[in-house]
Amino acid sequence: MDSQLIEYIKQSSLELGAAKGALGDGAWRYGKDDENIGWLVLDRSDASANTISETVLRELDAHLAQIEADLPRALVIRSAKAQGFAMGADIDMLAGMEAEATETLLTEAHGVLDRLEGLSCPTIAVVHGPALGAGFELALACDFRIAIDGASFGLPEVKLGLHPGLGGTARLPELIEPTAAMQLMLTGSTAHTRKARDLGIADVVVEERHVRGAVTAILNGEVNQNGRGLMARAFSLASARSIAATRMRREAKTKAPEADYPAPYALIDIWEKYSHDPKAMRKAEIASFAKLLQSETSKNLIRVFFLRRKLKDGAEGANDIAHVHVTGAGTMGADIAAWCAMQGKRVTVHDPDTDALGAMIRRAVQICKDAHKNTLETRDTLDRLTPDPAGYGIARADLVIEAGPEKPELKAEIFADLGKRLKSGAILATNTSSLSLTDLVVHAPAKTRFAGLHFFNPVNKVPLVEVVSHSQTSVATRKRLIAFCNGIDRLPVSVDDAPGFLVNRALMPYLMEALLLMDEGIPKERIDTAARQFGMPMGPVTLADQVGLDICLDVAESLSQSLKTPTADIPALLRDKVEAGHLGRKTGRGFYDWSDGTPSPESGATITDDLTDRLILPMLNACATCVREGVVGSADEADAAMIFATGFAPFRGGPLHYAKARGHDDIRARLEAFAVAHGARFTPDAYWRGSTTV
Ligand code: NAD
Repeated sequence: MDSQLIEYIKQSSLELGAAKGALGDGAWRYGKDDENIGWLVLDRSDASANTISETVLRELDAHLAQIEADLPRALVIRSAKAQGFAMGADIDMLAGMEAEATETLLTEAHGVLDRLEGLSCPTIAVVHGPALGAGFELALACDFRIAIDGASFGLPEVKLGLHPGLGGTARLPELIEPTAAMQLMLTGSTAHTRKARDLGIADVVVEERHVRGAVTAILNGEVNQNGRGLMARAFSLASARSIAATRMRREAKTKAPEADYPAPYALIDIWEKYSHDPKAMRKAEIASFAKLLQSETSKNLIRVFFLRRKLKDGAEGANDIAHVHVTGAGTMGADIAAWCAMQGKRVTVHDPDTDALGAMIRRAVQICKDAHKNTLETRDTLDRLTPDPAGYGIARADLVIEAGPEKPELKAEIFADLGKRLKSGAILATNTSSLSLTDLVVHAPAKTRFAGLHFFNPVNKVPLVEVVSHSQTSVATRKRLIAFCNGIDRLPVSVDDAPGFLVNRALMPYLMEALLLMDEGIPKERIDTAARQFGMPMGPVTLADQVGLDICLDVAESLSQSLKTPTADIPALLRDKVEAGHLGRKTGRGFYDWSDGTPSPESGATITDDLTDRLILPMLNACATCVREGVVGSADEADAAMIFATGFAPFRGGPLHYAKARGHDDIRARLEAFAVAHGARFTPDAYWRGSTTV
């Protein structure tokens, strides 16, 4: 949102509050305008984004008491934060809270929102940017919602192993078609502006300058809410709810079993039992939320939330990189360039193949579309993204990202050319996945300002970036790159130059073991099902196809050549596929046929613990080695990297957290048994015995 407008909202609300001598020194400011409309503005002074904490709710209660005593014609609630309306509940407040304390807090919080709902003047939430979780629930307690173009609404609690807890489970299905409301809550998805209007969440969609007009239209009765609540009546019959709930449970089961993700099932249960009775529904919501908060799943997902925040807030210094030059506009270079441009960087891109530059522009449009950018934002992104066949941008760039083919001699040539033109102080980062930076640095122009920025494919969907240092990378360079990643909304994890860095080193043993199992005659569908049942987003055979079998082979070969520890033999199956040109998704065929989109293999056969452990334990073992060898700074960072790069079962809290919960002795014993049965690649790392030395 326009920063001038935000300033205007802040100033006007301050003036209004000051003029009337109203409360205004906490998270909220309140004042009335000349038309006796009350404006209540949320602007937490201790954070750059609004979240809903206990204090925010208590202060809201105090304001509501004052508003009840001197009722305005209408009450408008909005945010003065550029980031949006409110991002959800304050997770710090919830983490570690006991069940009884949770119930007490939620009961009090419900009282505040019920008080808002019960005000005898019209209440209107004006939403710009995201209104998520408790933020959305606050807006739901208002009579009307005005969405500023670009606003989005969502109840993502399910991603923390929870469901809404501030009345949202009751209010949303009362407001819109109940099964659509349940769908939003069960998937934790977001309704962007148009969808929010179509669903009936937003009563009006306007541009910022028309907010005042929209408020007047509401007060003049020009905004129709006739259809509201009609659909909820269709589900007042228990039999109708039961049929819908059965369907929802079936659907939830296809995504995750109740034992791993109890929240969706708990939500369906309370909706089926109580949604015809708003009071009972609210009570059931509180009890169910408090119980879910105690579940291992929720604790682990909250842990993942904190791991993300740690990576996000890890930068020590400002992001001073304004201009990025990308060399190579292939699969990775195009994505990196488009992503950086969308995040506000000036980007120039060089590739000897002009078709690749054209494809990059089309890719940028798609990335903007996936990110729900509007026409103006997409145009601005494209304005910042310049194809640069002659490489004029090199001399102006603060950071050059090399994403040319994975051939050391070609990278050496590219570095030599860049060396002649690089601006003084600029950083050169390579996106290599498998080459050694210690070897590459020989050809780099400024050794201390040479590092790795290992993005993952696709860049817009995989948030992790490995920031790779070799022995000569300066601390300043690493810090600048970490700040840069934070500045472009990616999650950086700092790793050392070691074969495969962290993520590929841990992922490859898992992928190779899957292919060895196939070689032993286990059907690929059963292998993929085992991994999915463990909680991986996709099975290893499907993943290998998606990554590209040629890339898997390259990385596996490079790892087996450079690692001191025993690695799996490269399965003959993999070489055969690559030789036949069946490279996976990109060629339409690999181990699976991709002509109809992503395969979703399902096996009805019993999945044994042996099968799952044979797949998962090699990955855990490699993570342990990386922590012990100092490739990554800590077990937490290793967990975060594996979750945010590979989607490692988030409800298990990360590979090393899972190992800890299961017991290191158990992991070691299983690996020892596998080493005897299947070979030295399973030799347990010394980490499991508590060793932290190399
Ligand atoms: P790609 O083959 O899709 O793209 C390489 C691009 O480099 C091509 O467009 C090519 O025309 C261009 N190129 C060739 N010679 C060049 C030169 N002299 N100067 C500039 N550009 C030149 O490769 P990719 O998959 O995008 O991989 C690029 C890098 O990213 C590699 O180092 C790879 O290891 C790494 N990487 C790839 C993936 C992945 O999944 N594809 C993931 C992470 C990292």
